[in-house]
Amino acid sequence: MQLDKDLEALWKLQEVRKAYDNFVNERSRLKNLSDIKIKEEKLASAEKDLAEVQERIELLSKNAKNQEINCERLIQKSRDLEKEMFKENAKAKELSSLQQQLDHTKKELDALENTVINTAYEIEGLKEREEEIKKKIKELESDLAAAKANREVRIQEIDEQLKELQEEYERIKKEISPEVLKVYARKFNQYKTTTLAEINKKTCGGCHIHLPIYIVMEAKKKTSLVTCENCGRILYYRT
Ligand SMILES: [Zn+2]
Repeated sequence: MQLDKDLEALWKLQEVRKAYDNFVNERSRLKNLSDIKIKEEKLASAEKDLAEVQERIELLSKNAKNQEINCERLIQKSRDLEKEMFKENAKAKELSSLQQQLDHTKKELDALENTVINTAYEIEGLKEREEEIKKKIKELESDLAAAKANREVRIQEIDEQLKELQEEYERIKKEISPEVLKVYARKFNQYKTTTLAEINKKTCGGCHIHLPIYIVMEAKKKTSLVTCENCGRILYYRT
């Protein structure tokens, strides 16, 4: 009953191959893990936010410096105008013009001082935001590192399983006669791990069609390879 043994081994071979394929699928799913991708995207977006905030802070700090220089210039100008006004020989007409200039300068200074205050507030707000983003980036980084570490552990486990299954596959393959393997290999291109179909309650385990009784009987005898007349899979009567 070599065929009996062949079919039994072939069934085992197919089961090993199924397990192997499942692990391969899991491995590729892990490699494309959307969870990790989402975390990576969040981190990238936080890093972009941080760069933008820092750029804005730098720009505003430059502006603040210029605003302060301009303030000092206006203060100096006011002082000069006041000095001019208190000169003993100043005429009424000149005084009026100086007063106008002084008023204008003070108005300008007021406006500028408001701008300085607003800029300082904005910088303060942005610095708070900068700290928040930095904190968030740290959290995201450690989250991502943990998720990646977990994934690596699982991938290593899978790789070990794959190696064992590969060895088992090769070992079982040697038990099967070459003629049977040849038929199986040809059909495998089409049916993959359902090439050897178990007969369940007189139906083909592959296409689920009800099998004629003589086919079931032939398969049960195990004297020759029997295929499903509907789908062409090799039928296996498991006992
Ligand atoms: Zn079938």
